Amino acid sequence: MPEGDAVRRTARRLDRALDDRTLTGSDFRVPQLATADLAGLPHRGTRSRGKHLLTRIGDLTLHTHLKMEGSWRVLAPGARWPRPGHEARVVLTAVDVVAVGFRLGVVELWPTSEESARLAYLGPDLLGADWDSEKALARLLAAPERPLFDALRDQRNLAGIGTIYAAETAFLSGVHPLTPVGEVSALPRMLERTRQMLDQEWSRSGRMWVYGRARQPCRRCRTTVRVQQVGPPGQERPAYWCPSCQPDQQ
Ligand SMILES: [Zn+2]
Repeated sequence: MPEGDAVRRTARRLDRALDDRTLTGSDFRVPQLATADLAGLPHRGTRSRGKHLLTRIGDLTLHTHLKMEGSWRVLAPGARWPRPGHEARVVLTAVDVVAVGFRLGVVELWPTSEESARLAYLGPDLLGADWDSEKALARLLAAPERPLFDALRDQRNLAGIGTIYAAETAFLSGVHPLTPVGEVSALPRMLERTRQMLDQEWSRSGRMWVYGRARQPCRRCRTTVRVQQVGPPGQERPAYWCPSCQPDQQ
């Protein structure tokens, strides 16, 4: 699943592509919005908040979420689509550009005035101008017994990261991913480092410390990297760690 850095990149691409354009057409291929029509309305900017994409069109906000397999592509009119048409969920058309959202996990249309209220459940956005580390810490520590890996991924605590950054930041702090979050003394520093890594798009480096590297040698100590499914039932995700660099405290 794309994390905050990739979602921000998508938002910037859409924002540039649609810029100040007025839409000449829209095609919603999701049942609940089948009759929605945004033709004639101006694009007023696309932003990301955590892993959510907010495309403001007229007085409306098109809220999309990439979830596991979604993507937005910007194409020239008439260009061949990179994916089959049945995978398209939204098509936004302007005179010189077409933006197509494929396999989006969420497609909703809100009055823009409701944006804040609808996303109020999200914790502080690591990439937001309003990032608030104190608030994020307070939310994380409200359930001190939760495993670090789960707590960091919970978008209600802080918004923008998932399995990749939760694994990488735990490694860099030398903390086992199942450590109760309340026992992680380096938590404030960990958050700051995570924010910097996300802002610098560390996940694009292709040099992950542990994420996706099960059964491979740790880059630091050569111990074999492990993986385990962690999380509440139905929401498990793979947690990767090095047993030597991140010893189990229990
Ligand atoms: Zn190691």
